[in-house]
Parts: sequence; structure tokens; C-alpha cells
Amino acid sequence: MIHHALEHVWSVLRDSNNLLSLGADAQARLLDDGAGRALAKYAVSVIRVRAGGSGRARRRMAGVLRKWLDIERQREPFEVEQLELGRQAARHAGLEFSVRIDRVDRLADGARVLIDYKKGVVAPDWRGERPDNPQLPIYALLRSQALVAVAYGRVNAGECSFIAETERLAIFKPGGRKSPLEGMPTLAALIDVWSQRIENIAADSRAGRAAVAPTLYACKSCRLHGLCRVPAALEEGVDSHD
Ligand code: SF4
Repeated sequence: MIHHALEHVWSVLRDSNNLLSLGADAQARLLDDGAGRALAKYAVSVIRVRAGGSGRARRRMAGVLRKWLDIERQREPFEVEQLELGRQAARHAGLEFSVRIDRVDRLADGARVLIDYKKGVVAPDWRGERPDNPQLPIYALLRSQALVAVAYGRVNAGECSFIAETERLAIFKPGGRKSPLEGMPTLAALIDVWSQRIENIAADSRAGRAAVAPTLYACKSCRLHGLCRVPAALEEGVDSHD
């Protein structure tokens, strides 16, 4: 629902200039409209609306959207180039992956930023040789032209923020820092690393290579603890990679 509401909000605003000049009343109307459309679109909203009342659910969502726009106001000037592109095919090692990029922004100098909205706990889980979530690298490989940042947009009532990989300092807020880039000098260089990494992971998957080498994250969410020795190590706080 947050995706749908933000799609509406940015289809109206289109760029950071319009966001910065948006008055309080106009913003309240826009966010209420976005929240109302999102609630109306998804069947699941019926349950929540019945439980909490449509006005309350709508106000709650508009409040989250307001917090998110306050984060977006801190950014370098941008325009939204593409929203919810629909499903695209990414091919690696002969396998096809269906992906959907939430948003592509264009900066004043023509550079691009890819954004994926997340609602819950958000971490930079795209890093390392076996990333828990290779989604952003796969997006970057699909849209690498002039790309200077990929980011999760954490949009939830508790906290809103960008969690990003970028070579630019103040791209998401004044005084921001360059991200680690896994030791690479530029995002373009990191994308080359991602390309090889994703090919290797896809090739392993295609070849059926599945050595027991779980990550801590995978074991925590696994339902096979009763059959497996690894959870005992986890209880001692030991990552099976160590
Ligand atoms: S708990 Fe065992 S089966 Fe589950 S992911 Fe970890 S190692 Fe694999």
C-alpha cells in the first residue's frame, strides 16, 4: 500500500522543486488522496479498515508518508524519471529473474539513483560474496547507465531513511557520507564486482551447487532447526561462516 501511495504522490509531484514548494494544506490533501487510493486498491485494506476505521487507517498512512517526504526534502535536487516500471527480466548464467524497480530518479547533472521502498527492518543486505538480498545489485546491472546510487527507502512509522550505496557525499542529505562501496573507488567499479558475483551465484544455483554454508540470517529464519546441528552454534552467537 505504501508503494501504491508513493507512486501516486510522485506521479503528481514529479520533482524536488515541486516538493519543496508544496504548502502544508496541499501536502495534506495529496497524502490523504494517496493513502485513500492505496487503501481502496488492496483487499487487505478491507480487513484493516474494518478493524481500525477507514479514517484512522488513512490518517496513519498519511502520517508515514509525511515523515517520508521530510526525508526526501533533504536530498540534492532530483526529478522522478520512472515509477514502478513493471516486471523486467534479468538474465544471469542462463537463468531469468523477474524483478520490479520501484523508482528511478535523475539528478541535475543527469546522474541516476535507483530506489526500492522497504517497510520493515532494513539493512545493507546486498553486500558480500553471498548477499542475503542481491536485489539492488541486480537492479543496478539492469540500469547501470549514469548510476551513482542505489538505495532502500525505509518508509515506516518508526523511522524513515535512505540506506544506500553511493559514491557521492550529500546525495541523500547534507553532510552525508560516501558509503563503503566494499572497498571499490566508484559505484561503477562496484557494479563490475556485482556483475561477476551475481553471475557466480546464479551459476552455482543453476549447477545445483548447494554446499552447507548458511548465513546467520538464513538460519534465523529457517524452520528446520529440529533437524539441523547449526542452530546450536547460533545459540552460542557463532556465525557458521566464522
Ligand atoms: S538452520 Fe540448518 S537447515 Fe536451516 S538454514 Fe541453517 S544450516 Fe540450513
